[in-house]
Amino acid sequence: MKAKPKPTYRLDRNIRWLTRRRDGLLKCLRVFGPVVSGSLVLIARTCGNSAHCRCSRGEKHVSTYLSYAVRGKTKMVYVPVDLEKEVRAWSAQYKALKELIGQLCELQRAIIRRHAQERGRRP
Ligand SMILES: [Zn+2]
Repeated sequence: MKAKPKPTYRLDRNIRWLTRRRDGLLKCLRVFGPVVSGSLVLIARTCGNSAHCRCSRGEKHVSTYLSYAVRGKTKMVYVPVDLEKEVRAWSAQYKALKELIGQLCELQRAIIRRHAQERGRRP
């Protein structure tokens, strides 16, 4: 016997309830400012500028990069020190936005399910 996927929203919630909740989430969307996908990573490297540079003695230069994926491939972009705090905030906002969109999609699926259910009841 195949396991039936469990709906996240209770099926006794009617479309009105689901729609109200959906509209609440849509209002949350409006507060979003700049977003960027990816995470900040620290990369240590040697500069190769001089044999006298501290990095040649093992004290590598550490820089911050934004690591992100494009069609499954990881890419990096250098983040200047004075922009780090902002980029960190944009990245956090992106994660929150993604979470919100996930919730919205779940609600929309519940609305679709509920619609079919209510139609089935009164043909
Ligand atoms: Zn160096």
